[in-house]
Amino acid sequence: MLTQNLGFPRIGAQRELKRACEKYWKGISSLEELQETGRLERLKNWQFQYNAGIDLIPSNDFSFYDQVADHIFMFGAIPSRFKMLTSKLNNSDLYFALCRGYQKDGFDVTPLEMTKWFDTNYHYLVPEFEKNQQFKLSSNKVIDEFNEALEAGIKTKPVLLGPFSFLKLGKEKSTDFNRLDLIHALLPVYIELIGRMENAGIDCIQIDEPCLAGDLTHPEQQLYRAVLTELFGSFPSIKFVLTSYFDGIEKQIDWVKCLPLEILHLDLVRAPEQLDLFLEKIPKFLTLSLGLVDGRNIWANNLHESLEIIQKTAKKIGTDRIILAPSCSLLHVPYNLENEDDETNLPLFVKEKMAFAFQKINELVLLKELALVNPSKQAVEKLEKNKIVVENWAKNPAITNTQVQKQVAEVQNKWGKIDRKSSFKERICKQQEKLNLPLFPTTMIGSLPQTTEVRKMRRNFINGSISKQEYDEFIEAAIKDAINWQEEVGIDVLVHGEFERNDMVEFFGEQLEGFAQTQNGWVQSYGSRGVKPPIIFGDVFRKAPMTIHISKLAQSFTEKPMKGMLTGPVTILQWSFVRNDQPRKDTTIQLGLAIRDEVLDLEKAGLSIIQIDEPAVREGLPIKKENQNDYLNWAVKCFKLCSWGVKDETQIHTHMCYAEFNDIIQSIIDMDADVISIETSRSQMELLNVFTKNHYPNQIGPGVYDIHSPRIPDVDEMTDLLLAASKYLPAKNLWVNPDCGLKTRNWDETKKSIKNMIHAAIRMREAITPQ
Ligand code: ZN
Repeated sequence: MLTQNLGFPRIGAQRELKRACEKYWKGISSLEELQETGRLERLKNWQFQYNAGIDLIPSNDFSFYDQVADHIFMFGAIPSRFKMLTSKLNNSDLYFALCRGYQKDGFDVTPLEMTKWFDTNYHYLVPEFEKNQQFKLSSNKVIDEFNEALEAGIKTKPVLLGPFSFLKLGKEKSTDFNRLDLIHALLPVYIELIGRMENAGIDCIQIDEPCLAGDLTHPEQQLYRAVLTELFGSFPSIKFVLTSYFDGIEKQIDWVKCLPLEILHLDLVRAPEQLDLFLEKIPKFLTLSLGLVDGRNIWANNLHESLEIIQKTAKKIGTDRIILAPSCSLLHVPYNLENEDDETNLPLFVKEKMAFAFQKINELVLLKELALVNPSKQAVEKLEKNKIVVENWAKNPAITNTQVQKQVAEVQNKWGKIDRKSSFKERICKQQEKLNLPLFPTTMIGSLPQTTEVRKMRRNFINGSISKQEYDEFIEAAIKDAINWQEEVGIDVLVHGEFERNDMVEFFGEQLEGFAQTQNGWVQSYGSRGVKPPIIFGDVFRKAPMTIHISKLAQSFTEKPMKGMLTGPVTILQWSFVRNDQPRKDTTIQLGLAIRDEVLDLEKAGLSIIQIDEPAVREGLPIKKENQNDYLNWAVKCFKLCSWGVKDETQIHTHMCYAEFNDIIQSIIDMDADVISIETSRSQMELLNVFTKNHYPNQIGPGVYDIHSPRIPDVDEMTDLLLAASKYLPAKNLWVNPDCGLKTRNWDETKKSIKNMIHAAIRMREAITPQ
């Protein structure tokens, strides 16, 4: 029996790589310094795993930005718009230009698009393919990193993203070809690469093919099989580990079991039921890698349960054909639980039940020892302790609230009735009567510039160098300024600016019961950006109002409508580490109920417009089609639950910022928000096509200002976008707003752009008479 890891976090336990990258990008440090930080991080990771006793340690799981971008670069699949940079920039800068764009010395090259990695909050860079795309081996990273580990005395197993997934995860730049046809150009380059790796002394390679766990058409299956057969068959003396994760691959078993392959990895956390089938069907030469330790969540392994699975497997195929592994790469969990010592925000009984990457590595080694005939006394003690923690957990009154559970049961009984009181048509008339908004009403998505001053004051408040009163006064003044400015420029529906919030999920996580926070639980979101997801460990409820005071205060500064601003239950769920002892649906209902308490209080406090942001609904979509409907059904219901019982006159807004609305449009319609704002400006309103085609019945605000860049769009440009939008949708349904995330911009840019946006709205009012 062996142990293996599939990938380790890489941003650094104290976010060393983030700091090093950002310094380098700002020109404060040299490339050598950045590379040295990278080298040290890799070394630390390898040495830790080696000392822990892991048998197959991954390399090439490190990346300065993103592993898919590394492959794009390695295979020379650089889009033509970057070609003029190739002679100008060194390799590292060209790589970063792909990831971040290049706006310097008269160049203005946009970066590769980013999108979510399956159902995670990690963003990868999307490969762009041209019709006659050529591939050429253009980097030695894989072998360099293998050699680097070797010099430290550690022989590693390099990780490659497999050729099928590499193509499948990309997109075509034109519609006249299918990117999977490029396999004929790509496969020889993979074979060349692996040939070189073999010459460098590499004898074990992990091929990640996460697309195996998705829906595959019959021709795709055939292609997949041919590609992997040729790839593996070309190197009889290399041990290949074929990995997939995030769902089961039982539908592919009939051909996967015939591959000339040594080790097959299964995600047994997401899809435990597939194991039996594989135990039944796999041939004698195949070793199974059991993905038992959850790579997507921070809960400690239930060692007893895992041991049972290991023993069952051993009975069928023998201990020699078993490898123990995490379910997927550990990229999606933080580094080390030992860096957490704040018992107020992370109670001991919760911490005891948790495991970060370091702890998960130790769990694998421990499981291997426990599965032996004579495990050491210490190992057995750890098993016993784990058993006690697991047993105590279920009994712990701190995670259970019977009142909340009763409410959840009630909601489930009334599941079909969770609706607004009247239809949209009736509601909108009453709302318009109350709000009296002009045609093309203007608003913003919520946050306003989080200046260094705002961040500094929050830090000072947290570390105690200013009092709560001083902090509150500062926030109040910031809100007042923001409102004065909005009134001056003539915004119709105001926002308070979210200055009091660090992050739209963390802010609510800190106030809701059932949540814990970490100090260093950072996970890479994209490039140098990390998120620190809160932990939902118990029944969730609202112990006290969260936004009422500030919203009321903000409303008191203006006669115009002020939006109450909340984060929706699905987004809070999706961007947290969620308890695994009850269905996600139940946890989301609890979140929905807590947000509903807040919505009803906001309404009582006199807010006539309430926005419930749900940017992560699309991200939570299960990988396989067969599971999507169930998810969408409860996700929609949990959103609707938040405004269940509000008056017809109260206008409910939502916001989404994910580009792939195609496959969830019916659910967006079913959410029945009075107004939805969506991010669109980068797609030149094309996105609205989906909403038109599906006759989106309610009101909608397409973003007309791309806030991801410091560019200030002029009035003509935004008017054109609105004209384009009004071709798609009835003018009376259109709102005017920027894309989300103004908190990342500065005031100067924001003020200029919003002023132009309002002028564009005025022009539209003059140009268009509603039908
Ligand atoms: Zn957004």
